[in-house]
Amino acid sequence: MEIGVIGYQGDVEEHINILRKIAHVRKNQIKKIKTTSDLKKVSGIIIPGGESTTIYKLMKENDLIDEIKGMVRDGVPLMGTCAGLILISRETNDDRVKGMNLIDVEIQRNGYGRQKDSFSKIIEVKDIGEFEAVFIRAPRIKNAKNCEIMASLEKEPVFVRDKNVLGLTFHPELTNNTKIHEYFIDMVKRERGPFPLEV
Ligand code: GLN
Repeated sequence: MEIGVIGYQGDVEEHINILRKIAHVRKNQIKKIKTTSDLKKVSGIIIPGGESTTIYKLMKENDLIDEIKGMVRDGVPLMGTCAGLILISRETNDDRVKGMNLIDVEIQRNGYGRQKDSFSKIIEVKDIGEFEAVFIRAPRIKNAKNCEIMASLEKEPVFVRDKNVLGLTFHPELTNNTKIHEYFIDMVKRERGPFPLEV
């Protein structure tokens, strides 16, 4: 039973490090994913923030797109953060990145402006509570349908959930607060049984 972090570019190590801080997740249960064979045995998938055009290109070249779509439709939990959310959206509004249509949102890339317009803000997350959200060249969610709004910023959703899929416009891996990753691990446990599994 393993959690896979798409491992080409972006906040890969940051997600791995925060997963390691969760007491019941063992080191050997966290894995970087680069090929379809890395996906075997994976019970939860994280697509990190980074540069969505680069991550998309590499996922496509390595045939990960259809494989992941199939796994998620079969119930495997997935969390996409920032660029990761762009990659799982219905509409990216950018020809260089095609969304996987795993969550029914439309995206405006770099919706708050450039790198210098990055910011952090305390938000209130459903079932989790206050969370310091770090927004770095973040996308904005423009048209959320068929999903639960887990958190908003100035009335605009910044964290959405549709069943086994979580999409965040911010970076939950960049503070010491493990609560969003724990929430995700709980989804994996519920879907896939006890975690860790003694095998
Ligand atoms: N602006 C980036 C993109 O569109 C996303 C930024 C991030 O993941 N921090 O790919």
